[in-house]
Amino acid sequence: TDITELLLSRIRDVADYPEPGVMFKDITPLLADPEAFAVLTDALAEAARATGATKVVGLEARGFILGAPVALRAGLGFIPVRKAGKLPGATLSQAYDLEYGSAEIEVHAEDLTAGDRVLVVDDVLATGGTAEASLELIRRAGAEVAGLAVLMELGFLGGRARLEPALAGAPLKAL
Ligand code: IMP
Repeated sequence: TDITELLLSRIRDVADYPEPGVMFKDITPLLADPEAFAVLTDALAEAARATGATKVVGLEARGFILGAPVALRAGLGFIPVRKAGKLPGATLSQAYDLEYGSAEIEVHAEDLTAGDRVLVVDDVLATGGTAEASLELIRRAGAEVAGLAVLMELGFLGGRARLEPALAGAPLKAL
């Protein structure tokens, strides 16, 4: 569609970043274009409304840049899921495996409660490891997963299939 073409035209391919053999999708040209950024925000906010979400979770760091305006546009609260050690209050943590080593993400425990329906927003879905850990965190906090919405899905990495159990029927929207 026109929207897809506009968004794709503002994403830059950077070869061999952050390491040899990786083609990195750089969204900074899109963020610098107010028309494209508004189109993106509107489309993700529409996804939020369609899922009946009551809160938006953004994944550090680019999920913050996209998730915050989406939450505002949809009239929902924004909850940051951060890398370990950044949140000052009582947190829930979730560790997950990376290609080499592991990582840990956290959320303020009081930010998510039973009765919340949470939409997770991020820029790029790659292997799905980060998103999977965030869905686990949301459920452990007692909240319900409303869905996952991303700008771009790297389909050849199989993230969608990996996330099927964690999504448990909730929608995955990739613009
Ligand atoms: P995954 O856990 O393998 O799905 O990786 C997803 C996370 O890494 C997201 O938080 C993305 O922001 C980031 N990421 C992975 N690949 C790219 C890319 O090509 N461009 C921008 N971010 C990426």
